[in-house]
Amino acid sequence: FISKLPQIGSTIFTEMTQLAQQFNAINLGQGFPDYPMDTTLIELLNKAMKDGHNQYAHSNGLPLLRERIAEKVKILYNADINADTQITITPGGTYAIFTALTTILRAGDEVIVFEPAYDCYIPTIEMNGAIPICIALQFPDYQISWEEVRSRISSHTRMIIINTPHNPTGSILSESDMQQLIALTRDTKILILSDEVYEHLIYDDKIHQSVLRYPELMERSFACFSFGKTYHCTGWKLGYCLASPFLTNEFRKVHQYNCFSTFAPAQVAIANYMDNKDAYFSLSKLMQHKRDYFVELLKDTPLQPLKANGSFFQCFSYATISEENEKDFAIRLTKEYGVTAIPLAVFYKKATNNQVLRFCFAKKESTLAEAAERLKHLR
Ligand code: PMP
Ligand code: GLN
Repeated sequence: FISKLPQIGSTIFTEMTQLAQQFNAINLGQGFPDYPMDTTLIELLNKAMKDGHNQYAHSNGLPLLRERIAEKVKILYNADINADTQITITPGGTYAIFTALTTILRAGDEVIVFEPAYDCYIPTIEMNGAIPICIALQFPDYQISWEEVRSRISSHTRMIIINTPHNPTGSILSESDMQQLIALTRDTKILILSDEVYEHLIYDDKIHQSVLRYPELMERSFACFSFGKTYHCTGWKLGYCLASPFLTNEFRKVHQYNCFSTFAPAQVAIANYMDNKDAYFSLSKLMQHKRDYFVELLKDTPLQPLKANGSFFQCFSYATISEENEKDFAIRLTKEYGVTAIPLAVFYKKATNNQVLRFCFAKKESTLAEAAERLKHLR
């Protein structure tokens, strides 16, 4: 047997989480909250199971949950989305991304990907026989050069992947970015995959630029979301994909033969919880506080924060103290200082070293304080 994916090992998140466990380090690597989720939602999950919602859900997702999502995007983005024909519930955001790319891509198609790129994009493109066309976000603000995008579009360009707020950098797209994207794709057959799993994690009074705000973009987009990020339950693996009726129909053709339907009790629980709009309206404030707290704690260390307006990650440069490559530095940080972070280099196809690490601040203040204490003597 010859491996179909000989270049692929474990993801960086698995690798660094294992290392953190091995060295008893504080894990600010993999992105997940270490504080409890709302017990009301846990009780609703319990109730859903007790009430007998234990058989296959509708393949497209629980109708009530899809209606709740349609209401939500109307409130947030003034988008008119049809719950029957434009929303599919999926086992997580990653699955929604995998399905959207697999629905569209054929061998030889090109996909424009901005680097650093969230880890699943490029392998999924390549598994479908398509070709990633990588464009680096401009260091250190991680903005898109639309001139470069224009110059890399070809007759083979099938899709562009955007991700705002961005993992791993925390950068966000502006209205002007969205206008550029509209202008570049107008009168083309290029589709967009918009990864918006951090839609609510946006700070400094900025506004989340969803493709849902722009009907012209939405016609050509798959917009992917994750309840794990919104409700602090990454282990529930529940997400959804919004797209035009035509694209949704194609998406569901793949979805029905992959998992067919998504864990039913959690769909009932979340549908019954979604009336609580405060759960997502309050998120920015809660998480901005954590970010500011963490940055302040590290103020007297040699780690320099980079500009970031969203996600639950903050990147820091260690350029003033070391020229080591990012992965070696991240491993040394775990082993010698007991704090785990993620090297940004792994999110680039070509070897890169900007001397930047990503830290997840979706943690209890006591965890962040303990990590800062351990980093106090970093040299
Ligand atoms: N996209 C991005 C940018 C993410 O950071 C994540 C998860 N951290 C996902 C997609 C996947 O979400 P899920 O865990 O729901 O699969
Ligand atoms: N998305 C999470 C992160 O960026 C990790 C998810 C995973 O482990 N695949 O940290």
